[in-house]
Amino acid sequence: KSKDLKGYAPICLGLEDFYTRRLYLRIQDCFGRPIASAPDSWIDVVERISTDNNKTLQRTTNINKCVNLGSYNYLGFAAADEYCTPLVIESLKRYSPSTCSVRVDGGTTKLHAEAEELVARFVGKPAAITFGMGYVTNSAIIPVLIGKGGLIISDTLNHNSIVNGARASGATIRVFQHNSPSHLEEVLREQIAEGQPRTHRPWKKIIVVVEGIYSMEGELCNLPEIIAVSKKYKAYTYLDEAHSIGAIGKTGRGVCELLGVDPADVDIMMGTFTKSFGSCGGYIAASKEIIQYLKYTCPAHIYATSMSPPAVQQVISSIKVILGEDGSNRGAQKLAQIRENSNFFRSELQKMGFEVLGDNDSPVMPIMLYNPAKIPAFSRECLRQNVAVVTVAFPATPLLLARARICISASHTREDLIKSLEVISRVGDLVGIKYFPVENEKA
Ligand code: PMP
Repeated sequence: KSKDLKGYAPICLGLEDFYTRRLYLRIQDCFGRPIASAPDSWIDVVERISTDNNKTLQRTTNINKCVNLGSYNYLGFAAADEYCTPLVIESLKRYSPSTCSVRVDGGTTKLHAEAEELVARFVGKPAAITFGMGYVTNSAIIPVLIGKGGLIISDTLNHNSIVNGARASGATIRVFQHNSPSHLEEVLREQIAEGQPRTHRPWKKIIVVVEGIYSMEGELCNLPEIIAVSKKYKAYTYLDEAHSIGAIGKTGRGVCELLGVDPADVDIMMGTFTKSFGSCGGYIAASKEIIQYLKYTCPAHIYATSMSPPAVQQVISSIKVILGEDGSNRGAQKLAQIRENSNFFRSELQKMGFEVLGDNDSPVMPIMLYNPAKIPAFSRECLRQNVAVVTVAFPATPLLLARARICISASHTREDLIKSLEVISRVGDLVGIKYFPVENEKA
């Protein structure tokens, strides 16, 4: 009935394929908008404007300066940094943008070796290996760790890179209900008896795969309970910390630190450099034996060009800032700031009556829109009022669980956050997505 739903109603009737394609044609501009600046707390969004001038269609572009609520720039390292940027520029001059070589040939610079040692020390594992892309880290590593005859038990809401890695492995895949240790146990019990030794069961190997912060939910993993169940059934654990490493925990060491889990209890720790560290690439941290095995056998290590040296330098420098090894306490300040910003923004959104998913301390906070037809109205109105938001829809979420996914950064000022809250509140009223009564209004 509402104006912004016009024409989109049929997608609610379950005619997913045909209508989602039609929907995307109508809301194309809400996705993949070009950006003309660094993904810092404010960004320049390029808007394409079509005007009908005397029946001739004219297309121009306009730069719209917006508060950036969409990038994974959790600690603000995506912008020029007084410690990181000069070192990155120096590494660019010394090594060039590319190694033009795979790791086992000429693609291992001094920087790669230093970064791997530093990552291992930072996450609390004996060794680490880096890859050129976070997505590939999951999709290429899982098939090396497990294959036919193995069993992968995966959280229903795991990232697409995990899903594709699991499918490519040839292992049997079972899913457990999102973040539910009791359902994980049920699934494990269906497959093996409790206490059965690894050598006497139908699976060569069992790996349980979870995420530290779920990227579309903003929710923390129930890691201590998941680990307890996995250990009980002698299954290995694989933890994707893309959104949690660097972003949460007192010293930025992710979900393990926040929830008091010993990293030794997680067999494989995976993470990406594209979020808290403001770089690109991914890593696996594990025992020396596993890392050595990956170095000898993983095709993405042997056949793919290594991480770009300036990107590696950015990883080294940002971790040093987080650890305070740059000689300042900026790292600790950034960590305190992201926690404060995230908790402030989440509680203000909730007070306004929005349905916000996720946990305290998590910088990822989805605002539920539900009906995908609300995406264009929400996204375009926020943009018009200089706030850039990311909207997420099918197939990244179930069809009728569309949402706007806010990512908070340590570099947002209180003014940025208050401005954004005012805009989101106005747009929320317009689109009709305040589902909970506001306390003051009740009184
Ligand atoms: N794992 C998770 C949980 C992710 O959310 C993402 C992407 N955001 C990736 C892996 C892939 O990482 P990248 O974007 O660095 O390739």
